[in-house]
Amino acid sequence: NQREEERRAHDAPLFADMAGDLDVSFEFFPPKNEKMEATLWDSIQTLAPLGPRFVSVTYGAGGSTRERTHATVARIARETDLAAAAHLTCVEATKEEIDAVAEEYWAAGIRHIVALRGDPPEKGAKYQTHPGGYENAAALVEGLRKLHPFEISVAAYPECHPDSPDDRADLDNLKRKLDAGATRAITQFFFDADHFFRFRDKVAAAGIDAEIVPGIMPVMNYGAVERMSKMCGTEVPSWMGRLFEGLDDHPEARQLVSATIAAELCRKLYAGGERSFHFYTLNRAELSYAICHLLGMRAKPSAEAAAA
Ligand code: FAD
Repeated sequence: NQREEERRAHDAPLFADMAGDLDVSFEFFPPKNEKMEATLWDSIQTLAPLGPRFVSVTYGAGGSTRERTHATVARIARETDLAAAAHLTCVEATKEEIDAVAEEYWAAGIRHIVALRGDPPEKGAKYQTHPGGYENAAALVEGLRKLHPFEISVAAYPECHPDSPDDRADLDNLKRKLDAGATRAITQFFFDADHFFRFRDKVAAAGIDAEIVPGIMPVMNYGAVERMSKMCGTEVPSWMGRLFEGLDDHPEARQLVSATIAAELCRKLYAGGERSFHFYTLNRAELSYAICHLLGMRAKPSAEAAAA
């Protein structure tokens, strides 16, 4: 019966049986100082042997990390065999300024851009297009396409973007971005696999056949994730609060719980047919590494040698 099928879909396969037949990517943010740079570099070295299909570096609000994002992406491209992707937003910049950033990436050998609208510099304010700027991510994708044949990823929202009046408008917006030339969408983080599966159905019903990669956020700091989730419209299930209860003074136990929750989410997604995951690493490798390990991934000898 249907119940039994649902149970099996959620229960199988066991971690012990997982084959590691996954494509993963890892997201980092540009470091602010030397200590953070060292942590980031350690993380990249730890995760590289898993052979991610790409690693990406975020772009701070209002272009605040423009130089640091560039320096980080360029260093990854120079010093590793990893495919590096640069995030780019439309905030607080003219089209010419954004095009110039993209040109610098192309010149540095970066061929993959994660194209985003971005958020207003003032938290909670309504988004305003910068005078002479790109109106949104779809317009940015179109602009990038005119410059060079970049590989372009865009954002998708299983629980709907807060600026969207409804799911339909959100899906239309996603379709515009893909029709403008994006290759794939990476989702906002979510904690309930069913949100993703329902979204996947709606995406298919809307005639979108591009790859939609689930974005996985291992929880490092429950309070911060709760605040972030409120802003971006992600539901934090009540069971999650209960699982982190009483762990404030137990950072190592917290990590174990966090890895377990994220791996369990990936296991459900895997059972539902997903084979690609994008990890929001927050520049800490161990959690993402542990989750990939549980899913059956192991260091690839060639990548390991290249990273050493
Ligand atoms: P868009 O797709 O352009 O639009 C988002 C929503 O706005 C749409 O769903 C739609 O409802 C509405 N909208 C857009 N255009 C119109 C229109 N013409 N008319 C009516 N409604 C419209 N932020 C950063 O600052 N730096 C990063 O590096 C970064 N990386 C991210 C990576 C991923 C994988 C994800 C999921 C998000 C990331 N973000 C980042 C956050 C992102 O910038 C915000 O979610 C932002 O609010 C929306 O960006 P977008 O590209 O989805 O926008």
